[in-house]
Amino acid sequence: FHLQAIDHGDIVVYYQPIIDVSTMSVAGFETLARWQDGEVMVMPSQFIPVAERSGHIHDLTAYIMGKAFPNIARWQHVTRTDLHVAVNFSPLSIANPMVLEALSRCLQEAKLRSSAVHIEVTESRVLRDPIRAAVHLQHLQTLGVKISLDDFGTGHSSFEWLLRLGADQLKIDRVFIRDVAVDEKTRKVVALQKDMAASFDMTVVAEGIETVDQWTHVRDLGITYAQGYLFGRPMPAHEIDRWLIEEAPRLANTLALAASMPSVNATNHQGF
Ligand code: C2E
Ligand code: MG
Ligand code: MG
Repeated sequence: FHLQAIDHGDIVVYYQPIIDVSTMSVAGFETLARWQDGEVMVMPSQFIPVAERSGHIHDLTAYIMGKAFPNIARWQHVTRTDLHVAVNFSPLSIANPMVLEALSRCLQEAKLRSSAVHIEVTESRVLRDPIRAAVHLQHLQTLGVKISLDDFGTGHSSFEWLLRLGADQLKIDRVFIRDVAVDEKTRKVVALQKDMAASFDMTVVAEGIETVDQWTHVRDLGITYAQGYLFGRPMPAHEIDRWLIEEAPRLANTLALAASMPSVNATNHQGF
């Protein structure tokens, strides 16, 4: 990864819908970076660590906000709803003055309210320096942005975070959602995470929902927000334009229909 990738416009922002489970409408979008390196589409797991080591991660975060905020403002207008945008922040960027300046500037330019911005941070990574992180996270919250704990439960420090730092939202990692429909213990763990979040006044997003079974379990557990391939894959902005008009309005109907049919697994068990 190199800085020219940003300058040349080779970094593409993808958007994945986040769904309000009770209404089955779109609540917001998470931005996910892609690097179009010639013919090859490079995934963030490959270049984000490199950008973090080189220090270019801050330019990348600023670039993503600059691209995404105007689109979100536009989609708010199209849907006449309060869509939010969830931006992944490297722990290094939380304390970076250039990134914070970019955040304010991008908000102003896009005429977006700060409360429409969710900053996603991975708990285990922030907790390497919790005292500094607390100061910076609180500063961001005083600006009005929401803090979202990404990949919750996968580190060994989840409870330490709740004790020492504040957040507005918890994202249940997809390793738990993967088994929520098939494993009773996993279901209990997800229910615990949800109850715990509620007692800390945090909202919850279930990540990585791929099947109708997973979705109905998440819904029955009373989880408010859901994200995953079942609702929509990460897409570039022009595809979201189409998705919002053609697919989002039908989402509730499609899912209701799918939920009323016997699942593929159940059919197999019956030997069809
Ligand atoms: P994340 O923030 O936890 O993002 C969710 C990841 O799960 C995304 O992978 C998304 O494509 C994938 N995903 C969503 N729904 C499903 C599903 O139903 N099934 C499965 N199997 N996967 C699903 P992606 O885009 O490869 O991003 C990986 C990670 O890279 C992100 O995890 C995030 O930590 C990081 N990342 C992505 N973009 C950025 C960025 O702009 N800045 C920073 N600092 N990190 C980023
Ligand atoms: Mg994330
Ligand atoms: Mg995650």
